[in-house]
Amino acid sequence: MRLSQYFLPILRDDPKEAEIVSHKLMLRAGMIRQEAAGSYSWLPLGFRVLKKIEQIVREEQDRAGAIEVLMPTLQSADLWRKSGRYEAYGKEMLRIKDRHDRDMLYGPTNEEMITDIFRSGVQSYKDLPRNLYHIQWKFRDEVRPRFGVMRGREFLMKDAYSFDLSREAGQHSYNKMFVSYLKTFARMGLKAVPMRAETGPIGGKDSHEFLILAPTGESEVFFDKAFLDMDWSAFEIDYDDVGAVSKVVEDFTSKYAATDEMHDAADFERRVPTAARVNGRGIEVGHIFFFGDKYSEPLECKVQGPDGKMVTLLSGSYGIGVSRLVGGIIEASHDDAGIIWPESVAPFDVGLINIKAGDAEADAACEKIYKGLSAKGRDVLYDDRNQPGGAKFATMDLIGLPWQVIVGPRGLKEGIAEVKNRKTGARENVALDRVVERLAG
Ligand code: ATP
Ligand code: MG
Repeated sequence: MRLSQYFLPILRDDPKEAEIVSHKLMLRAGMIRQEAAGSYSWLPLGFRVLKKIEQIVREEQDRAGAIEVLMPTLQSADLWRKSGRYEAYGKEMLRIKDRHDRDMLYGPTNEEMITDIFRSGVQSYKDLPRNLYHIQWKFRDEVRPRFGVMRGREFLMKDAYSFDLSREAGQHSYNKMFVSYLKTFARMGLKAVPMRAETGPIGGKDSHEFLILAPTGESEVFFDKAFLDMDWSAFEIDYDDVGAVSKVVEDFTSKYAATDEMHDAADFERRVPTAARVNGRGIEVGHIFFFGDKYSEPLECKVQGPDGKMVTLLSGSYGIGVSRLVGGIIEASHDDAGIIWPESVAPFDVGLINIKAGDAEADAACEKIYKGLSAKGRDVLYDDRNQPGGAKFATMDLIGLPWQVIVGPRGLKEGIAEVKNRKTGARENVALDRVVERLAG
């Protein structure tokens, strides 16, 4: 992409309305624009990141055996009346009437709808287990939308729903999602610590929240430092191997980790040596929950079991805050100059800076690198604008692409370009005709 033809509305100054660094940087880097409280348009740069995150989430869901669907954002109130949540949900639910005066709502989540979909499509115990998910916009009329996309009112969520015949089978479905979450977040460069969560009124069942550490996080967290030294990404897993999956869950739940809601100071002190006690703040990026027949029962989601008797299915739901992650990753990865994208979610792989745009030799050298890298499948943002070098460097650092290639008059004379790694700041001189090879990936 040529920057001269792109849409990247960079802000020079810190926007006053932004309280935390990710919100500031997203506005400054022209990634989002606020449309109403807690509601944002995704501008080209932000949209690319959102899509990359969404794709990682999708790949890891698919790998864990979940099947993608897409449900509408607007739902009829009927199913919610059956589950009892139409009234219970309270003011966070945006209720709407259509032209026939029918009660509709903008979905804050989809347990009811998916249970009804599954009920109407499933015949026998042989059709189980199944896990269906979608990646769809949600609306929750939060009391205090804030921190940009971190606590929006309209936000993108991945929500998966498992259906099983027995508690044991349901546990395996839960465990698979647990493991897939570790892998999903690790692919984005994050260590999202699973913490036992409140199970709400049903109680007694499993629930974990996944939190990444950041001083601006909304939850207070307490955990064992040993967590951070674990192998978060390298492990391979066979999702059909019940024992292996359960072993990973055991490993990642064996150490102390709790949000303030679940924190037990005495237990923390007993289980974690003083030097390993971490008390910090965290951002909830995912939440998994096994709730059994909470929705299957009222919505009559049952199948004929092996013995011919009808069995009510047991379910769990598994959410990931896709749009929140964009802010979360920035909270975890930035410096004074701007964002530092992990390669896996970066909007472009390489930023190519032509210091002397308009100069025939500089243009030709850049063009060759631009075309060469593009041909190798690398996404390049080429700053071909006629602007001072300093502003170009600042923009590139701000938007945080993993690699920068700088082509200027001095280097051109020697036949070299400068290649800079945004994260480490390391710079190397690379012969012009080797730049493509150096960054081909
Ligand atoms: P929170 O405790 O942060 O309000 P929640 O527990 O109500 O979140 P869940 O119902 O567990 O949220 O939703 C699944 C995921 O969706 C959360 O883990 C979070 O990452 C994301 N999410 C929830 N609410 C918002 C929001 N208002 N804006 C952006 N992402 C959100
Ligand atoms: Mg939650």
